[in-house]
Amino acid sequence: MTNKLSDRINNLPVSATLAMAAKTRELKENGIDIIGLSLGEPDFNTPDFIKEAAVQAINDNFNSYSPVDGYVDLKKSICKKFKRDNGLHYETDQIVVSTGAKQSIANTVQVLVNPGDDVLLVAPYWVSYSAIVTLAEGNPIEIRSDISSDFKITPKELESSITNKTKLVIINSPNNPSGSVYTKQEYIELAKILEKYPEVFILSDEIYEHINYGVPHYSFAKIPSMYKRTITVNGLAKAFAMTGWRIGYIGAPAWIAKACTKMQGQITSGTNCIAQRATIAALEAPVSKIQYMVEEFKERRELIISLLNEVEGIKLNKPMGAFYIFPDISYFFGKTLKNKKINNASDFAIFLLEESHVATVTGDAFGSPNNIRISYAASKEEIKKAIDRIKSSLES
Ligand code: GLU
Repeated sequence: MTNKLSDRINNLPVSATLAMAAKTRELKENGIDIIGLSLGEPDFNTPDFIKEAAVQAINDNFNSYSPVDGYVDLKKSICKKFKRDNGLHYETDQIVVSTGAKQSIANTVQVLVNPGDDVLLVAPYWVSYSAIVTLAEGNPIEIRSDISSDFKITPKELESSITNKTKLVIINSPNNPSGSVYTKQEYIELAKILEKYPEVFILSDEIYEHINYGVPHYSFAKIPSMYKRTITVNGLAKAFAMTGWRIGYIGAPAWIAKACTKMQGQITSGTNCIAQRATIAALEAPVSKIQYMVEEFKERRELIISLLNEVEGIKLNKPMGAFYIFPDISYFFGKTLKNKKINNASDFAIFLLEESHVATVTGDAFGSPNNIRISYAASKEEIKKAIDRIKSSLES
């Protein structure tokens, strides 16, 4: 019956990250010992002080519809967070709270992009950017980068992709899937190009802001010439171990925030009221309260780098943020492993799933066909076991 469905949905690719997560779940339920390193999801519990705020909200009978753009006191906490962590000044009418940063991105794209507009994506990019752009009938245009430039683009590469059809550029630092972090100076250089093209907007996805191993986080909107055309996206999922709570938000020019509220009002309304109340507790707390998770991720990063360095044919960069490693595995293309011909990164990811019982995500989904993404948001024991398995199936 798929022919009865709209072209829109028939042409929409399935989210590769979520598909791999579903596959992992299914195999585990069937008793297969899969190590899931596909999903970007902290394995920590949500901190107790946040859970307590949620329980309090339930007991205080927060059960009605909230304002579409979020509770005012939550929006004030978000303004304070932007000031404290990013040096950005936003008023509450510039904030919209949504059901995950994913909805914040989808809202922004829907309200800015007309059919036929180009949206520049810096590859590797998070899987859903291109699908979200396609749903808005925009054209996702990739600016490719690879491991030789630490997966970053130069101002020249940015400029050569801009045309009079370019409406939006989506940037993401720390980056999912490469873990690369742009420095303040690198962002200033990119901004100098964008200054020449005043019609172009910038969506800066900063969801991994706090998961950073040493390059200071810098918000693109902090560059004075960019503030008025940058939409800063952030959320609670990664740094606060709150993936399932679904809280994302934007700081943006008020006219864009207003449009996003209008869009959201027709699709989902205000996001979950309990999660919103808990978010106030999360954002009002000092960032030091969640540092223990970042420290642990940092140790896991060292571990996975040292283990993967021992696997022949795997080329790595050193991720400075997020909890992914994005090795170049093109060395294996054209080779036959255990009677299976490896033609591309998808074949390689399937090989790892079937032979090593380790779930990863093919780089094709992120616009980087020479790579695979491995999430190290898993215990050290699981990481060790996974890389050990990968090593032995590749060596045999
Ligand atoms: N952002 C996470 C990831 O890339 C969560 C899954 C998703 O929504 O794509 O794995």
